[in-house]
Amino acid sequence: MDAFAFSPAPSPNAAPFPSASPSSRGHRFSIRGPRRRRPLPALRSSAAPSASHHDVVVVGAGIVGLSIARHLLLHTPLSVAVADAAVPCSGATGAGQGYVWMSHRTPGSDTWDLAVRSKQLWEDLAAEMDGLRAGGARESLGWMKTGSLLVGRTSKELATLEEKTKVLSQAGINAECLSASSLHALEPALCVRNDGGAMFLPEDRQIDAFQAVSLIEKINRSYSPKGRYMELYNDPAMSLIRSEVTGRVEGVQTSKNILYGRKATVVASGAWTRSLLHSFLGPNSTLDIPVKPRKGHLLVLENFDMLKLNHGIMELGYVDHQGDNSHSIHLSSTSNKDEHDAASISMTATLNTKGHLVLGSSREFKGFSREVDKSILKSIWDRAGEFFPAINNVHLDIDEDKEIRIGHRPYMPDGKPVIGFVPDMSNVLIATGHEGSGLALALGTAEMVTDMILGDPGRVDFTPFSIENRFSGTA
Ligand SMILES: Cc1cc2nc3c(=O)[nH]c(=O)nc-3n(C[C@H](O)[C@H](O)[C@H](O)COP(=O)(O)OP(=O)(O)OC[C@H]3O[C@@H](n4cnc5c(N)ncnc54)[C@H](O)[C@@H]3O)c2cc1C
Repeated sequence: MDAFAFSPAPSPNAAPFPSASPSSRGHRFSIRGPRRRRPLPALRSSAAPSASHHDVVVVGAGIVGLSIARHLLLHTPLSVAVADAAVPCSGATGAGQGYVWMSHRTPGSDTWDLAVRSKQLWEDLAAEMDGLRAGGARESLGWMKTGSLLVGRTSKELATLEEKTKVLSQAGINAECLSASSLHALEPALCVRNDGGAMFLPEDRQIDAFQAVSLIEKINRSYSPKGRYMELYNDPAMSLIRSEVTGRVEGVQTSKNILYGRKATVVASGAWTRSLLHSFLGPNSTLDIPVKPRKGHLLVLENFDMLKLNHGIMELGYVDHQGDNSHSIHLSSTSNKDEHDAASISMTATLNTKGHLVLGSSREFKGFSREVDKSILKSIWDRAGEFFPAINNVHLDIDEDKEIRIGHRPYMPDGKPVIGFVPDMSNVLIATGHEGSGLALALGTAEMVTDMILGDPGRVDFTPFSIENRFSGTA
């Protein structure tokens, strides 16, 4: 093996979790994710980091990184190490609502084939779990065959839904457009005007992010005794290890370990990928992957029996909400041009397997702030009340025992994930930028990364996701 050299140490900005702001402490409600956050350990010069050798090193143990590890372990003979700065679900994954839906997607778009494939892979995993365990996929994945309703409240929105139903049906998706009265029969708690309606996709599914992560961790760990899997949590990646002779990347230096990856290093660190890459590649690199954190709040009401839902529900405005042209409600926007000032809400509502009502969600650019914004929570609640009149009679005491989830979606300005090799580096890949679809797209992404590492053609065209010619420094 060649001698190695460390790339420059990361700047403080690369730290994945800034310390919690004072205002996010002391609330009585529980906040998923950040509770388990720990301070970044410093690299101590006195204790020599321990070195281990693997085929693939994955940086980031969110749903994307863990799924990549799982796919490699299941479908190749390769060994894998996963390192995370904190723990799984401390990133965006822990805030995810869990819908694996096709309703808000567009046939023929760059992400369509990936979404179709990924949903199939979730179906396969669920079927496997159903065959394996009592309780099946529902218990192990939070899997629910609820179907989804994309709701429009005006005649104009209904016309859009009719068109969307046609397009999805032509693409082979089981979709039906419902009038207001048919919708009421299917979902009595939901209220739309007489000229509104919904698109119903009976085959849409949902998972629970925490259960799914814990299942995938369990699968991955079953490869540890065979020496094929190692997981290092609370151990942030700091720099790349490069051969002094060839410059080839040989692995990753974390705060406590040196992880050699003979075949590949995969950076799957969500919204932190941009700053991490700057640290990895050093000041001379011109590569800039413009992924940035898009903060979201989610409200979870335990055993909330005021509202019975039969399906997963999303307002039509969400379709634009996930991009930039939001038709959902905007809050505190002082300037339409400055996305940093704008927060927007679109209604999503699901019941999970425990019977908790999960209400979403907000989108705003606030850096990595984890502060709970009560005005956003109130807007999520009020927005839900516009669709579900029953909850208008319920006073939401935000300081009472509610679970608030906050996460930073890895947002890409061009609206699609980045999955591919770093130009001029034959063995470093990036997998991030899934914004509000990382749970749904994780398994397809994992398969794609595996195919790339193996040099296989892949079931889904890689081209739309590649880095080459897409960002500055890659022309
Ligand atoms: C409110 C909300 C609702 C959502 N609902 C849905 C939904 O219903 N369906 C859906 O498909 N998607 C949903 N999403 C989006 C989804 O959660 C994300 O797209 C997905 O979790 C991204 O996964 P990830 O693994 O890329 O990132 P993350 O989960 O953020 O994981 C990145 C990991 O990298 C680690 N990391 C950072 N820096 C380093 C370092 N230096 N070294 C090592 N590790 C590092 C972090 O600790 C973190 O664990 C939602 C998101 C939000 C915020």
